[in-house]
Amino acid sequence: MLLLDGKLLSENIKAEIAAEVDVIRQKGGKIPHLAAVLVGENPASQVYVNSKIKSCEQVGFKSSMVRRDADLSEAELLEIVHNLNNDPDVDGFIVQLPLPKHINEEKIILAIDHRKDVDGFHPVNFGRMAQGMSAFLPATPFGIMEMLRRYNIETAGKHCVVLGRSNIVGTPMSLLLSRKGYPGDCTVTLTHSRTKDLPAEVRRADIVVAAIGIPQFVKGDWVKEGAVVVDVGINRIPDDTKKSGFRLVGDVDFDEVAPKCSHITPVPGGVGLMTVTALLMNTLKACRKEIYQ
Ligand code: NAD
Repeated sequence: MLLLDGKLLSENIKAEIAAEVDVIRQKGGKIPHLAAVLVGENPASQVYVNSKIKSCEQVGFKSSMVRRDADLSEAELLEIVHNLNNDPDVDGFIVQLPLPKHINEEKIILAIDHRKDVDGFHPVNFGRMAQGMSAFLPATPFGIMEMLRRYNIETAGKHCVVLGRSNIVGTPMSLLLSRKGYPGDCTVTLTHSRTKDLPAEVRRADIVVAAIGIPQFVKGDWVKEGAVVVDVGINRIPDDTKKSGFRLVGDVDFDEVAPKCSHITPVPGGVGLMTVTALLMNTLKACRKEIYQ
């Protein structure tokens, strides 16, 4: 069994991006600028945004954060989005989800200029991705595709079972893996909470992508010998031995599943770090106008 090491891979990719930023700087070009909007006090969101900002610093990007209290109105948030859309120095920006209940997330995502949508959540980017056109890919699936590519995981003709059909992970992942080319050309089964006999579906998989948000849900006897397992889940479970009182586990029961796999991502240290790195890759593309002229 080989670990798909998101930490090592993201460090390598960040070093490549940092080298590109150096070249841009030497030539007097525009330094990529990522902005992040954080509303409210959700602790997980704060951790994610801080890590995105820190990663920007590591590669030499400019970053900025717009922080507001949870009682911000929808109109005020739309105004912030509008200002970022029109700020020529900002190449790309994200609005960290989830938003407070009184704000319509769909309305906010639709308001983001798709040319700055480095999270790849806008329907223009989603539609372009589905049609195999150049697009900002959602960061988590983009990070996973990059991981499969850099580890030379064979995908053509493989049967991939994706667990979870969210707009940000499961559904785009299923589309990307079924697209023509590498990594792709898989035969994909997209499963969800209404799927009958999920273990039987997973047992047929050469590649498993688990994105459901239930700790240690995928068990050892669900997984075929030699399968590649990508665990997207990030779940907190109580752990008295930790100062924080919790530890992070994935959607896969790592101890049971790992011995059967050819490759598996750890949690933490797997997909999560690649997600942040993919966001940097998208920001660099936005600055270079690689997706949209
Ligand atoms: P979500 O909560 O939006 O959707 C969960 C999906 O799982 C749904 O489609 C649902 O149908 C399916 N599901 C729920 N129960 C199921 C069951 N018993 N059997 C089969 N399917 C079931 O999920 P999400 O936003 O895609 O997040 C999934 C997990 O991935 C969470 O743990 C989240 O924290 C994590 N996540 C990690 C990253 C990362 O960077 N690593 C990024 C996004 C999400």
